[in-house]
Amino acid sequence: MSKLTIKSVETIIVDLPMRRLQRFSATDAKSQSVVLVRILTGDGIEGIGEACTPSGPWWGGESVESIKLMIDSYIAPFIVGADPFSISDLMATVDRAVFGNAFAKAGIEMALLDIQGKSVGLPLHDLLGGAVRRSLPCSWPLATGDADKEIEEAEMMLEAGRHNIFKMKMGALPPEEDVRRACRVAEGLSAKASVRVDPNEEWDETTAKWAAPRLADAGVVLIEQPFPRWNLDACARLTKRSNIAIMIDEGACTPHDMIKIVEKRAADLVSLKVMKSAGILNSKRIADIATAGGIELYMGTFLECSIGTAANMQLAVTLPHLPYGGELSGPGLVADDIAEEPARYEDFELQLAPGEGIGVRIDEDKLNHFRRDRTDKIHSIKTVA
Ligand SMILES: [Mg+2]
Repeated sequence: MSKLTIKSVETIIVDLPMRRLQRFSATDAKSQSVVLVRILTGDGIEGIGEACTPSGPWWGGESVESIKLMIDSYIAPFIVGADPFSISDLMATVDRAVFGNAFAKAGIEMALLDIQGKSVGLPLHDLLGGAVRRSLPCSWPLATGDADKEIEEAEMMLEAGRHNIFKMKMGALPPEEDVRRACRVAEGLSAKASVRVDPNEEWDETTAKWAAPRLADAGVVLIEQPFPRWNLDACARLTKRSNIAIMIDEGACTPHDMIKIVEKRAADLVSLKVMKSAGILNSKRIADIATAGGIELYMGTFLECSIGTAANMQLAVTLPHLPYGGELSGPGLVADDIAEEPARYEDFELQLAPGEGIGVRIDEDKLNHFRRDRTDKIHSIKTVA
């Protein structure tokens, strides 16, 4: 039984500027906001977690503001005074008190796991079964909507040795135009890179019927979440008739979702994301069901900064088979970060950071600069009655 007791839980919203506009099907993002979670134990160990969304509530209903409120008002009271080694019990208690809010729960669980690693002097992956890899090929998102600029951006990444996999966000443009854009980029980068697309639920089955073969002919190797998340039957039909890999993301959030995907053979692979599944341990449960059911895995992201990315990486390195790699590229999209040593990309792969727990330390100066509640920023906020 651990002698550790949790003394405090703190949440801080941090607004990080993006290097360039990121265009999703539902929104345009110029900055990435994250919630930093700091959990302190009585004997001075600090666990660090990050909860974030892909620029607002469009993906899962949560926002950084709702995450902070949910943790501060409804989750933290169960955590303070508890034993950080009782994660299963703690998260079950939180689940009984708070429905949904997976992103908020993931930030808390991440900080608790960080405490566990630090308290025994081990990297988190050693507590999750051990590492089978030290690095991960990660895709770079192409999401400006302009094919010429996207090819140029990809060429820069190739030249820098950072990324040779590219994922095009689709759905913001009309399907015909969007498919033309994706084909142009795939053909422009052929032989040099692997190109995938993600319409984020925006297609219907009729669109997929003509779009999927056209994309496959242009060299696109994977389509992610073409249909609304509930429509597993359409996804199963597309998977069966396509000669291009089909991946489910939005539709694979819980172990129960994963069982249905296996039963329906609804995809070739699923994207694991710590945030959408309320934490690393639940993501591992989903991974186990997928693997047992013959469905491949991919390590997804919500564009976490270097903190959440390091935690995602701790999980990714324990997964034996990731045939399409992952997309832990958030740190490259933000113009600055709040970690002392930002994520490192070399030889087209994200490198596993050394260190105990999730392996990240906070740069306090940068945190003070980017935190939303900085005193000089508070004075500039106008109150609307
Ligand atoms: Mg996705």
